[in-house]
Amino acid sequence: MSASLILNDPTLLQTNAFIDGVFTAAPNGKTFAVRNPANGEIIAEVADCGADDIARAIDAADTARHSWAATTAKERSAILRKWNDLCLENIDDLAAILTAEMGKPLAEAKGEILYGTSFIDWFAEEARRVTGDVLESPFPDKKFIVLKQPIGVFGAITPWNFPNAMITRKVSPGIAAGCTCVLKPAEQTPLSALALAELARRAGFPKGVINIVTGMDAPAMGETLCADERVRKITFTGSTEVGRILMRQSADTIKKISLELGGNAPLIVFDDADLTEAVEGAIASKYRNAGQTCVCANRMFVQSGIHDKFVAALAEKVAEMKVGDGFEEGVVQGPIIDQQGFDKIERHIADATAKGGVVVTGGKPHEKGGTFYQPTVLTGATRDMQLFSEETFGPVAALFKFDKEEDAIAAANDTIFGLAAYFFTKDVSRIFRVSEALEYGMVVSNTGAYSSEVGPFGGVKASGLGREGSKYGIDEFMEIKLMVIGGV
Ligand code: NAP
Repeated sequence: MSASLILNDPTLLQTNAFIDGVFTAAPNGKTFAVRNPANGEIIAEVADCGADDIARAIDAADTARHSWAATTAKERSAILRKWNDLCLENIDDLAAILTAEMGKPLAEAKGEILYGTSFIDWFAEEARRVTGDVLESPFPDKKFIVLKQPIGVFGAITPWNFPNAMITRKVSPGIAAGCTCVLKPAEQTPLSALALAELARRAGFPKGVINIVTGMDAPAMGETLCADERVRKITFTGSTEVGRILMRQSADTIKKISLELGGNAPLIVFDDADLTEAVEGAIASKYRNAGQTCVCANRMFVQSGIHDKFVAALAEKVAEMKVGDGFEEGVVQGPIIDQQGFDKIERHIADATAKGGVVVTGGKPHEKGGTFYQPTVLTGATRDMQLFSEETFGPVAALFKFDKEEDAIAAANDTIFGLAAYFFTKDVSRIFRVSEALEYGMVVSNTGAYSSEVGPFGGVKASGLGREGSKYGIDEFMEIKLMVIGGV
């Protein structure tokens, strides 16, 4: 274990894959290093499993699925609740592991654990609210009944930017529905996943119900999950590019699919917005997790009447943001996850400034070195810039000036993506008009923060398929069966 990561309970730092209820090394003993993005230090060496280990995990999940599906919803709910309680009891350690491997500030990491556990808590309740139907029969001598049943084994693949919550948001509804799972976490953040596995083991999930397989060979592991007939569903959060691959690979076995993919969120500030609210909302949406979330505002459209005041107020606040190691007191922005992410930010800034964009604050690598980047505000953004069509995934607010409402809506919708969209206005009719006109799965006005277990999370167009969380989330893991009884 890294000297700088001190845990109250060091046994939460598991480094082997969790298959069939047992923490298991890769068969050939291979490992890979997990590094702290703030300083490059190795935190731990983790089992580098591959396609064969995924296949073993599928065997375990398939063996466990009948007995797990046969438990009562109340029994599943009780174990989920135990898992939730154990996560909350260990929140300090879970947050420290998360900050160490991912870099987000410790307070934000704690916020993620609370957000993550909210899904376990919610689906512990939803497990008991799954109901079928008795239909009005079209025949005098036949009864029509609708059953909802667990889909079976599901495969889950998760990203590094929410190493805890993206797991609980998938695993909790699936397990609550009576399914079993095989999950592959991102290679940058396997430790948060394995800590969740250890707490699931302590909560008493039967062996094989939750399997977590770590490894570097994501393409082979994903292919194995998709090709196996026994895996009836794939649930994925990550890039649109990988989402497309998984969808293609799942075609042969006709799997049910949920995809939470990239965003390219617009944030529109109208002249009649409350300036303070708009600036606070823009900061909450843009700079959380150093801009590395799928719902971060990527393009800010600001109406000409409020534009200059908004730029000044935003730049003043952004220039004050403290950047540094997530464990340092007062830090609100950690490092970028890796060099590749850092390079993309540099590329977007170079492209934007070459095309007339003006950096108001930031715009350069941070003096702390490594992958730290200055929180940035850039004005004069235009549609021909890379940052108009691609997620920057970094702390860069790109501001576009507009005059008419319809122009802002047209520009906001001019993207293949459709995850989250934000706008600020005090005009109630505009709230309805613009909410209906924006082609996004989540349209949010007058706030920059809204994610919770209660609201359905998901996108349209190239941002994905299906919804997570909420009362709709459990349906993604169930099949509807029609039961007809004749001769009655
Ligand atoms: P990514 O490259 O797609 O990786 C996500 C996961 O997919 C990782 O576990 C990765 O494994 C795995 N993977 C990579 N190539 C694969 C393949 N060929 N087959 C199967 N699995 C494969 O995405 P990322 O860069 O980590 O995450 C950032 C993206 O996720 C952004 O686009 C962001 O918008 C999106 N995101 C969306 C949501 C949402 O809810 N819509 C939430 C968070 C993030 P390795 O780590 O081993 O490569």
